[in-house]
Amino acid sequence: MSQVPWRRSVKQHPDEAIGSLVIRLAPEGLLTPGEFLKYHFGRDERRPPTDIASDREALEDLAVIGSFNVEWLYQATWKTLGTVTEFLGRRLPQGWFKPEVRRLAPGILCADSDDPWVRNEWQIRALPCDCDTGEMIIERCAKCREGLTWIRTQNVYSCAICGYDQRAAKARYAPADVLARSRDLRAYLRGDTADLPAELASLEDYEFLSLICWLTYFVALPDCVLVRPSPHEAVTGFRLAKQWPNSFDKTVDELLTRYGGNPDVVDHFWRVQVFEEALVALGRVGSQAAQRILEARLISRLRLPAGFNESKLGFIEPVARFDSRCQRFKWASPSEIDAMRSSHDRTRLRPPSSSE
Ligand SMILES: [Zn+2]
Repeated sequence: MSQVPWRRSVKQHPDEAIGSLVIRLAPEGLLTPGEFLKYHFGRDERRPPTDIASDREALEDLAVIGSFNVEWLYQATWKTLGTVTEFLGRRLPQGWFKPEVRRLAPGILCADSDDPWVRNEWQIRALPCDCDTGEMIIERCAKCREGLTWIRTQNVYSCAICGYDQRAAKARYAPADVLARSRDLRAYLRGDTADLPAELASLEDYEFLSLICWLTYFVALPDCVLVRPSPHEAVTGFRLAKQWPNSFDKTVDELLTRYGGNPDVVDHFWRVQVFEEALVALGRVGSQAAQRILEARLISRLRLPAGFNESKLGFIEPVARFDSRCQRFKWASPSEIDAMRSSHDRTRLRPPSSSE
């Protein structure tokens, strides 16, 4: 489709999200974003405007209509292959980027005054805050709590469900340590050299990023804090990865302590028990290369013979022990097992009552 540049355009920012440009440009042609997509790109108006990001031809058309720099548009696109999404030069694991989700910093949009626009980096779900100002990013409406999406919205700052202008919401700021961690992770995502342990630096980026989400989950296991690995825990995991393998070893020791007391003298039986339980957690890392590194470390930390996992293959079935109420790991401790056993014995050995 041949396009003609519009007489009036909007100012494009180098790091602006594509959905933001589409939504801001549409009114200049007296169209809603949905109509703009339908008439100029032949697309379903019910789909999010971010959809055109995966279509190079559509982006070229958008650049012509809005007199935009097409290179900047290309930088803001993404490509999803399987569970991995390539965005801003990084291959991100599942859950790190969702094309339909619109993530915003209300205070910054407010400070943009009459030219509010959405930044690309906010769309990376692992970054909890804007790394320059420290303002927390929201992905739910501050009023009705519905998820903010790019669909059916007439501007970049309102909720599509209740229409609430997010710029009126109170800006919240990340604590200093969260901001520092977010900046660390952003530097890594931008390609700055991070002093990572060599073992982890050898991983592909999406594998490494899966691993850092997992590390936070694993370290929290002894306290049953996290239900599953999540990109929301990535900034903490990045710090833990820098402390590899100490962060991992400490948790394995803690789990051992749960079973049998002192990790230095604990019984081989309990080491195998911890290994079996940890296998369940390891299965959730989402990267085979990372899983191999973790398994090798687990075996060496538990002082099990090398190749222990292969010898056990087919014998150990990783089974998650979930507490039925809270759907979290429940680590049966030896004292509990003893209590169960003794009450069983008591029942078994109880003499018949006099009434029988
Ligand atoms: Zn709302």
